[in-house]
Formats: sequence, structure tokens, C-alpha cells
Amino acid sequence: MALYKYGSFLTQHDDAAFDAVHSPGATAPYAGIYRCTGCGYEIGIAESHTLPPQSHHSHSPTKVEWRLCVYAQHKK
Ligand SMILES: [Zn+2]
Repeated sequence: MALYKYGSFLTQHDDAAFDAVHSPGATAPYAGIYRCTGCGYEIGIAESHTLPPQSHHSHSPTKVEWRLCVYAQHKK
């Protein structure tokens, strides 16, 4: 589970982006933390970079799929 120290840096939001599940090797639509729906493994990735492939880590019987956990807002 993603950790943070200062709650004032994060805002709970109901954006549909948090509901989408992304296949291994898909393009990350947002910079941020993504979580494997199968095991909870978390990664940090830049916007438009490629999410890790199925071979990134192993577990069964579920497959690796990525779901956005926290995204970085690019505004001041
Ligand atoms: Zn996993």
C-alpha cells in the first residue's frame, strides 16, 4: 500500500482514471503510482511510459494488471 507522511499533499478524488485497469505493456496515462491488481505490487512511472510487462513479477493464478493508485498533477 502506498504510504505518505503529509496528508496535505494528497487529495481524495473520484476521478474515473482510478477505476481503469491497464494491461501489462500499456502506456501509462498519468504519472504516478500504479498497483498490480493481482498482488498489490506498486510501481512509480512517468506519464506516457510503458507499464511493466507480464514478466515483471510472477504470481498465479491471476495475471499482472495495473491500476492507478495516486497520480501526479502537473500544475502549480
Ligand atoms: Zn502482481
